[in-house]
Amino acid sequence: MSEKTTTIKKRCGCCGELYETTVPVLPTTAGPGELSDLDQRPAPPLRNAMYSQIFRCPRCGFTVGPKMRVVSEDFVLESAYITCEGNNFPDGTGADYYRLGMTSERERDLVNSFEAFLRAAWAFDDAGDEANAKKCRDRCIAMNKVLPGKNSYDYLVRADIFRRAGRFAEFPDEIKNQHYPDGLTNMIMKFQSEKAAEGDTKAYTMKDCFDRFSKEK
Ligand SMILES: [Zn+2]
Repeated sequence: MSEKTTTIKKRCGCCGELYETTVPVLPTTAGPGELSDLDQRPAPPLRNAMYSQIFRCPRCGFTVGPKMRVVSEDFVLESAYITCEGNNFPDGTGADYYRLGMTSERERDLVNSFEAFLRAAWAFDDAGDEANAKKCRDRCIAMNKVLPGKNSYDYLVRADIFRRAGRFAEFPDEIKNQHYPDGLTNMIMKFQSEKAAEGDTKAYTMKDCFDRFSKEK
């Protein structure tokens, strides 16, 4: 993570507390030649941007991203909010993003909710906490019913979430086996299918995918 930090002031949208929080300085570009993971997580150092975009009120515990959100204290005091729906995650960025996902979903802001649950998974990936990362991917999969993918980008992100959660068999065949107009999507879907067949739930980058198929030439 970047060593540079900056201090941000936030007004809590629940209890009204004005608090200061120190966050890493936001990087603006990925490293040279670095490609994203297959779930579109950016390469370092850009990937660490998410750690500077989540804020937790020290007084009441309400968590927000860059966008101001307002909730009642009842919501923050509910055991579902405190325990992250019974998951009892350790305090930290993963739990904070999960709670942001819950708040966004409650506001029917489903796109940002899905994104927050995926970021929670990334935070647990970084912490080496595979079990909790899987729970966050399972939450994304549950959301997929109300927020199905609409384009190749969405399908690729979802395919990776299903595989990394060990549930690729549940990823709809009609999406997986579709003949996409672009070769890149077809190639990534083929890569995902191969890895899933091997029971492989590890993270891969776009470069891994390119390397795999360049060997065939
Ligand atoms: Zn507060």
